[in-house]
Amino acid sequence: MKLKIWGSRGSIPAPLTPQELESKTETYLQDFCRSPYYNEKNIPGFMAEKGIGSGQSFGGNTTCVELIGADSLIIDGGSGLRLKGNQLLAGPCGKGKGIIHIYMTHFHWDHLMGIPFFVPIFIPGNEIHFYSVDPALEEAIKLVFTKPYFPVPFAALGAKIHFHKIEPRVSTQIAGFEVTPYKLDHPDACWGAKVSYQGKNYAHVVDNEGKRVGRGELAEDLPLYQNIDLMYFDAQYSFDDLMKRIDWGHSSAFIGMDIAFREKVKKVIFTHHDPSATDSQLLQMMENDRDYYKIQKSLHQHQFDWTFAYDGMEVDI
Ligand SMILES: [Zn+2]
Ligand SMILES: [Zn+2]
Repeated sequence: MKLKIWGSRGSIPAPLTPQELESKTETYLQDFCRSPYYNEKNIPGFMAEKGIGSGQSFGGNTTCVELIGADSLIIDGGSGLRLKGNQLLAGPCGKGKGIIHIYMTHFHWDHLMGIPFFVPIFIPGNEIHFYSVDPALEEAIKLVFTKPYFPVPFAALGAKIHFHKIEPRVSTQIAGFEVTPYKLDHPDACWGAKVSYQGKNYAHVVDNEGKRVGRGELAEDLPLYQNIDLMYFDAQYSFDDLMKRIDWGHSSAFIGMDIAFREKVKKVIFTHHDPSATDSQLLQMMENDRDYYKIQKSLHQHQFDWTFAYDGMEVDI
């Protein structure tokens, strides 16, 4: 299966400001002028070497990912869902023949705000299936389409909407994926998921503070972290900032790394970036995390690939 990240930001969208764009452009132009590429023809080579737009820039849409196998499963409806909707319009959804599956971890705004801007939901003939452990699913989605918050009432939506309450820690088949919800550490109940497909396992661990790290503490939620090929982990804060934000419901890469070393996770992508973190601050956080990884690697019999999520990133699992 493949993971596509439509939104990697946490809490609230964080668009690049004109001032940040100006400052980034100035830095890149200075680098270009000083580089051996300094010629118009060499711009693509310079951009490829710098990784501009992929790993140097993280994007500002809130959390939404898609798992792609024979079919596709969307996890959460943050503002990134709007772009997924636009992509779908080119296929059966544009003709009102689409079937879409969306798993909701919880209903904080950053995971919900893309739903009223997901165009396939307005097109008659489309079918949208929402899944959640939380029995408030139907009420929460309907609330989004309530005046005065949004002009189109739920009853006027073109697509047929189905709500599915699924059981915690029990596997359910959704769109050809085996989905097993596990509880995360968050101020309001939030259900991550282990998603299995053709022998590969993906762990969705967003939003999560990671208060429970030990195997005993994790108890019945421990399988979320075991036999995992790719873990998508909430690392909104640096470890220092996390210590100042106890009970805010988000974690740090250090916690995800500790779990990944112990459980022998094969790859980790850190996500739910702090909306107040600029690209350069996120790159600095990565440097600090790299130092921690190096120290920890020398103490463990395991190593793994890891990186930070950015909007538009695609990863094979
Ligand atoms: Zn969130
Ligand atoms: Zn949340």
